[in-house]
Amino acid sequence: MRVIQTLTALSCLALVVAIFAFSSETKPPKEKTNMSSDKIKAKTITPDGRLTEPVETAKVELSEKEWKERLSPDEFDVLREKGTERAFTGDLLKNKEEGVYTCAGCGLPLFSSDTKFDSGTGWPSYYQPISPGNMEEESDHSYGMVRTEVMCPRCGGHLGHVFNDGPQPTGLRYCINSVSLDFVPDTELKKTSDAATPSEKAEIVLAGGCFWCVEGVFEQIDGILDAESGYAGGDEATANYKAVCTGTTGHAEAVKITYDPSKVSLDKILEIHFATHDPTTLNRQGNDVGTQYRSAIFYANDEQKKAAEEYIAHLTEEKKFPKPIVTTLEPLKKFYPAEDYHQDYVACNPNNPYIQAVAMPKVEKVRAKFQESVRQYLTTP
Ligand code: FE
Repeated sequence: MRVIQTLTALSCLALVVAIFAFSSETKPPKEKTNMSSDKIKAKTITPDGRLTEPVETAKVELSEKEWKERLSPDEFDVLREKGTERAFTGDLLKNKEEGVYTCAGCGLPLFSSDTKFDSGTGWPSYYQPISPGNMEEESDHSYGMVRTEVMCPRCGGHLGHVFNDGPQPTGLRYCINSVSLDFVPDTELKKTSDAATPSEKAEIVLAGGCFWCVEGVFEQIDGILDAESGYAGGDEATANYKAVCTGTTGHAEAVKITYDPSKVSLDKILEIHFATHDPTTLNRQGNDVGTQYRSAIFYANDEQKKAAEEYIAHLTEEKKFPKPIVTTLEPLKKFYPAEDYHQDYVACNPNNPYIQAVAMPKVEKVRAKFQESVRQYLTTP
């Protein structure tokens, strides 16, 4: 009997705390700026444990069955069904270690331990997210209250609510279910050494005729860490200029573009690529004829493949070209760097007649059309 009375008293206390914690003055949701079709821009933790600056990251969309396989029943109830854990029961409520709190659904960093404070409500509380892009807000009219729900912007998982009664410097209180969170201690995070280190590197291999031109175009773009001429689509034995020139090796003259996604997006790279070669001429760019001059995107993963398919569909829909696009999408098996004398060919051979006639017009077109993307020292007199 005493046990039941105690439990009843505890339940009442939890309910009172819940009403108190969730009915304070609410903060109106911010404008939705972070929701594109399938990507968000947010800080992430790389597979090797580095916390990045905001980069584009694909949303996580799973079926109910897949979520149930991934999450514990309690996590599923809160993250996917918008449940609320009982106050004072969460594992991370009292955690005072330094580190990063991540989404238990998808691993997106959400809060830094620096912003955690003891609100007395029984739920982990923070005064700001780790970056504006790492939190999504929505008006919540459930239970006869008007509150601002906060969610993980990458997987849509319910986290809790945000109120206007938090401490300075923001005056906000993010009241979060502990079960929605995982914790990564600082000791497990690799530090990004300095600001000059790119936050994240990504690569894509593109072909669009002579690789000197494609490389010359991309060398100018801010956020491109490297553009390297080479061969893709064939075997190692024939990955040399003499063999590739025969047009029988399966190789295309291609360029491996290494880029910092926080500075230049894959969509922008594709936009520039399609603006600087003719994707409608099969195995040909101008006077350069042969399969080695085909228009191709060698994708390294499904995300790149999807982005390329969508971009081509967009160009087709918008009728950007008078003829059908014949660009091939090919899985990247291996990229073979070209001989040294092919690297930086435009920069090293500006007076070469081919460079003057074919490459320079593309380079100049990019400087005019994509001014905002060109390295500043190339546009500033
Ligand atoms: Fe998430």
